[in-house]
Amino acid sequence: MQRLLSRRPKDRYHPNAERKGYRLTQDHIERMGIGTDLHRLEPGRALRLGGIEVAFDRGLRGHSDGDVVLHAVIDAICGAAGLPDIGEHFPDTDPQYKDCDSRTLVAKVVEEITELGYAVANLDVTVQAERPKLSPYKDTMRDCIAGLVGISSDRVSVKAKTNEGMDSIGRGDAIGCIAVVGLTKRG
Ligand SMILES: [Zn+2]
Repeated sequence: MQRLLSRRPKDRYHPNAERKGYRLTQDHIERMGIGTDLHRLEPGRALRLGGIEVAFDRGLRGHSDGDVVLHAVIDAICGAAGLPDIGEHFPDTDPQYKDCDSRTLVAKVVEEITELGYAVANLDVTVQAERPKLSPYKDTMRDCIAGLVGISSDRVSVKAKTNEGMDSIGRGDAIGCIAVVGLTKRG
């Protein structure tokens, strides 16, 4: 495998590479994956998106905390690594995942791809929500997701868009997310 190395200080990526005084770039993507998810909004639940709590009068229904963003991220990572999808990994019939923090599920999947010799190179996330307005939260979400997958925030993008009043998202009944990930081989 070709390792692309860089001494540019902004390219913080691989801990071993850092120790050796050089840094891997994100340019050598071995595998790519896409993940999508959609959850219904309902009253009486906290709204968790991208690992953080967002102030809103409703939250997302789900067996876990309903974090649609982290679920899309997990499915993208699983897809890229050729692993079973989130439903097979963390079945909603399993009581141990009831109301669980989706951040722990991300950590488990990252551990699995690490064992397979992969690491996340970058993540591109689009949250689809009519309300609430997510722009005040995007940077915090980005930092949180970056921390969970072990990369710097400049390798994560979080975008937010509405569905122009159309379909379940546009009517404000649901929030969706699309995530694309690139994986690189660890050195
Ligand atoms: Zn989900």
